[in-house]
Amino acid sequence: MSKKVIALLNEARARELTAISQYLVQHYELEDQGFGKLGAVLKATGIVEMKHAEALAERILFLKGEPTTKPDATAKKGEDIAKMLKTDIGLEAAAVKMYNEAAQVCAAEQDQISKQLFEKLLADEEDHLNTFETTRDHLDELGAAYLATLVE
Ligand code: FE
Ligand code: FE
Repeated sequence: MSKKVIALLNEARARELTAISQYLVQHYELEDQGFGKLGAVLKATGIVEMKHAEALAERILFLKGEPTTKPDATAKKGEDIAKMLKTDIGLEAAAVKMYNEAAQVCAAEQDQISKQLFEKLLADEEDHLNTFETTRDHLDELGAAYLATLVE
């Protein structure tokens, strides 16, 4: 099996591990600040990323590789909501780009199962990107009035 594919699966896993820790930091910070509704979105998204990280590990093990345990970046702390959303949009947009490209490489390497895994994750990341962009747009347009709706 292709070393190239295993490396891509591990690169994706490292991204997922970063996203997990980033979204869980934001979850507890938002809860602490009383923005429970947005905090719940971050928690739910973090749990989806955990499933992604595990699905990637299972595929890596099947291909006789070694799943990485290292995130590719450190989670940012103490950001305001606008900055959090910018961080999250950055993570998701980069994942969408990388998973699209990785699916193509998997096809070229004749690994349809890894290709399908990347496509499945890609669909979720597009969804996350859309959620974060919509939230940012509402915040831009409505400001404090929108923030008030994010309180539990
Ligand atoms: Fe993910
Ligand atoms: Fe995501």
